[in-house]
Amino acid sequence: MNCPICIRDTKVVDTRLSSDGLGIRRRRECIECEYRFSTVEEVELMDLTIVKREGKRETYSREKLLKGIVRSLEKRPYTEAGLKTLMHSIEQDIQRTKQQELSSAELGDVVMERLRTFDKVAYIRFASVYRQFEDVQTFQRELNELIRKRNKTI
Ligand SMILES: [Zn+2]
Repeated sequence: MNCPICIRDTKVVDTRLSSDGLGIRRRRECIECEYRFSTVEEVELMDLTIVKREGKRETYSREKLLKGIVRSLEKRPYTEAGLKTLMHSIEQDIQRTKQQELSSAELGDVVMERLRTFDKVAYIRFASVYRQFEDVQTFQRELNELIRKRNKTI
């Protein structure tokens, strides 16, 4: 990697694993001007295949997943940074499965697990689309809890 100031070659002065163990942080120094900067390498979910319910396969798309999540967060209070962290956590969880293929249901489970603590309303919206109310009891339980909490705060 070249120096962002003088575009000369740089050397790596320090390499460490990011705290989650899924990225590598490198501290670099320019050979010419001694400018120091850091780079972070992360695994990209490039080769992940999503197998849909009908058996159709498609390449994992971050944009598509993000769209679905943003849709479930409509009119909910959240920050861009929070959303970014959420996406990051979801992709880490996917990486941890160490699978090249995930069913859309498995992907949905990973997302829901994270959404549940991120935003309860978004979680329920997302679950209703993904699960199509397969797990009615869980859904009802979550809904009741949400209503109870809301009543408490009012
Ligand atoms: Zn330089």
